[in-house]
Amino acid sequence: MVERRKPIWIKEAVEKVMEYKKRGEGETVSIHDCDARYLYAPLIADHDVPPFDRSPYDGFALRAKDTENASRENPLLFEVIDEIGAGQVSLQKVGQLEAVRIMTGAQIPDGADCVIMLELVKELTEGGKKYIEVKRTLHEGDNVSYQGEDAQKGSSLIDKGERVTPGIKALLATFGYSKVKVSQKPTVGIIATGSELLRPEDDLVPGKIRDSNGYMIESQVLRTGGIYKKYDNCADDLEALYKAMVAALEECDIVITTGGVSVGDFDYLPEIYNRLGAKLLFNKIAMRPGSVTSCAEIDGRLLFGLSGNPSACFVGFELFVKPYLRYWMHSNRPYTCFITGELYSDFPKPNPFSRFVRGKLSYKDGRVYAEPVGLDKSGVVTSIAWADCLIVLPGGTRGYQAGDQVDLILLEDQQGSGVPWQERKLSKL
Ligand code: AMP
Ligand code: MG
Repeated sequence: MVERRKPIWIKEAVEKVMEYKKRGEGETVSIHDCDARYLYAPLIADHDVPPFDRSPYDGFALRAKDTENASRENPLLFEVIDEIGAGQVSLQKVGQLEAVRIMTGAQIPDGADCVIMLELVKELTEGGKKYIEVKRTLHEGDNVSYQGEDAQKGSSLIDKGERVTPGIKALLATFGYSKVKVSQKPTVGIIATGSELLRPEDDLVPGKIRDSNGYMIESQVLRTGGIYKKYDNCADDLEALYKAMVAALEECDIVITTGGVSVGDFDYLPEIYNRLGAKLLFNKIAMRPGSVTSCAEIDGRLLFGLSGNPSACFVGFELFVKPYLRYWMHSNRPYTCFITGELYSDFPKPNPFSRFVRGKLSYKDGRVYAEPVGLDKSGVVTSIAWADCLIVLPGGTRGYQAGDQVDLILLEDQQGSGVPWQERKLSKL
């Protein structure tokens, strides 16, 4: 008799996965290698930025009070007593009607309290001395970047668990982190199951297809920030599959299988979970595609059983595996990020389960639209490649029309969300 499985809500499935969430260890890497890694410690300013008052322009540093009477009709002459470029410090103290020629980034000399831009003065030489003619009044602080205006010593700038972006990398460099403590990358074991699977280098033969899921998951793992360990594709063979699973469990932080989680004759994953003595967290979710997505736990380690159908496999990773991995890397926003937008075209097919339709975003007149792409079947692979979002159509008895407000899960988003995506109440739509 075919086993009857009771579907649980997506939210519940995410919660069950996250019950087993844990944080990985840290490691120290060169600043050159810290991109897209997650900070293991907060970034605290250990000095002011800028560390000294400096000029944001090429110009002349002088005393504002000396310019009080300067005007177009009454140009005032200032003697240029020194010249400094970025990185240099003037040893002169700027006195009455004196100026130091200063380049962008150089420290404001003692005595000076403002800078007049190069293009606003006329330069003269008289009797071997250099002068500038100033025709306007300046105020204290004009064109000065003050010490600490960017960041003050002791202030907390970036929380731990943030993913390193170019801006964060710039800060790390600013504060002298030639080495950066980041979270380790989780190792994800990948086993594609199915007797029909060929490798990309194999020629097609009748009845067989090339494994796409294994490679897609590799890519999803890398995009999330993990590393993968790929095991040879497993034919639908209980013993071989069991062996591969035991090996993967030994070597990896989590194991993802694709295929073989359904109730078909050669779907061995349920039997493998049993044999391993793993605790089944779920094996049916009220969603399309991917209702057979399964998860089991053994010794605190998770085994994700994703569907063999490519679109279902893809969605299963995004919804359930990604938050687990991001949390592992210390992210405080491990969930997939979502926004709302309008459905671009009708989607008349109703379904009792919530549907994740591969979609493409567009923007028009300040509004966000999402259009379904490709065939909406769990077995298709092309729509995944064309999609930049998942359009969420909550389950119900009716279809959807162009203009309906829908949640859109952003596939390329790296910032994540602190709260999990949750199904909307149908009444809201
Ligand atoms: P299964 O979940 O094993 O019942 O497989 C469901 C469907 O997905 C079948 O049509 C399989 O041939 C297909 N499939 C399974 N594994 C893969 C894979 N790794 N790459 C592409 N298609 C697959
Ligand atoms: Mg199969």
